[in-house]
Amino acid sequence: SRAQVVVIGGGYGGATAAKYVRLLSDHKVNVVLIEPNEAFVSCPMSNLVIGGSRQIAEITTPYTGLARTHGVQVVRDMAASVDTQRKVVTLARGGTIGYDKLIVSPGVDLQFGAIENLQAANASGRILQAWKAGSETVALRRQLEAMPDGGVYAITIPEQPYRCPPGPYERACQVAWYFKTAKPRSKVLVLDANPDVTSKGALFKKVWAEQYGGIVEYRPQHKVLAVDPRDGLIKFEVQEDVKAQVLNVLPPMRAGTIAQQAGLSNVANNRWCGVDYQTFESTAARDVHVIGDSIQIAPAMPKSGHMANAHGKVAAAAVVAQLAGWAVNPAPMLTNTCYSYVDNRNVIHVASVHEYVAAEKTFKTVAGSGGLSPAPNETEGVYAWNWAQNIWADSLA
Ligand code: FAD
Repeated sequence: SRAQVVVIGGGYGGATAAKYVRLLSDHKVNVVLIEPNEAFVSCPMSNLVIGGSRQIAEITTPYTGLARTHGVQVVRDMAASVDTQRKVVTLARGGTIGYDKLIVSPGVDLQFGAIENLQAANASGRILQAWKAGSETVALRRQLEAMPDGGVYAITIPEQPYRCPPGPYERACQVAWYFKTAKPRSKVLVLDANPDVTSKGALFKKVWAEQYGGIVEYRPQHKVLAVDPRDGLIKFEVQEDVKAQVLNVLPPMRAGTIAQQAGLSNVANNRWCGVDYQTFESTAARDVHVIGDSIQIAPAMPKSGHMANAHGKVAAAAVVAQLAGWAVNPAPMLTNTCYSYVDNRNVIHVASVHEYVAAEKTFKTVAGSGGLSPAPNETEGVYAWNWAQNIWADSLA
């Protein structure tokens, strides 16, 4: 009988892995993808929806391509539990699916409970995260539209590591661009738990000073303790309370819930999933591979969609090789590019190449690879939108 690979999560990591197991096995391996959402909504480019220059439909892709073009069996459900001994996944709506190899890519779990009152404030829609793209992305845009001119939008950033290091700073730029165009007396407060801007720092700071002077204010060392949704307050461990009309609180993050429940989050106080970087096989369970934001990253590897897509290909190749009894690629390579829009057109990027170093069993940045934009420019704005079209096609079409 045919080997079966089950993939949990149809995001950047899981969708890519599902497609590439089909392609690399010449369609000989069955692939079942478990994903609760009807369509894929991209986090990359979702800040443009918040800024108002793009619509949610432009960042949404259906799962029909994976099913029709590649023969992936898409099951619209949540994986409720995994028995890694018996090699069976149980679905939330009942029923089980057995696997020869399991690939787990559930993204991050947002730890609302780490901040007092946040769980309820988020559930009621008062304080949004919009760090998983979809309905909250649209709701945050509506809050900004409803805010009177002269109001304050505050975004809080958790300590590293979190999903998408430059993402919060890009969002600050997008909201500032909207305010500058439509509500010029309004302010953007960036309240960062980290000691400094963690990605493209000099570039972002220059944009805030030159393009958004008087609109964006950056404050480091602001670790959130609690929120008071009624009075619109954010309370910090050390610093003074901040009042804002639109509060966008990003809680600390950890490996997706199903990865924790399956016992795969075995490092950094059970926060992230340890993997063998050559194959992305879990260090906690055999025949289970973990990819994307849920893993314990190697030094200088960001939690990004581009990276999750690259993990997906390395894991797919390893799984197909192992099932066929072939040698596994001894030296996988990963690439990364993260583009950030500073307004509706101008973009800055950071890029890097990471190679697996067998002697140290980790990924290392290739010396001289990658780099940074010299300054925001429109050409990279074109590249960025095309990057998105390409990675959506690579993962889902
Ligand atoms: P996801 O893409 O989140 O996919 C996880 C999937 O798993 C989801 O579809 C979810 O529904 C599903 N799932 C979860 N639990 C279960 C379960 N129990 N059963 C079944 N399915 C489940 N990255 C870039 O490379 N470039 C960018 O420009 C960029 N910009 C960003 C901007 C923002 C505002 C944000 C928030 C992120 C950005 N990122 C960017 C980061 C990128 O979105 C993530 O790194 C990427 O989504 C990680 O992929 P993943 O597969 O780990 O998780």
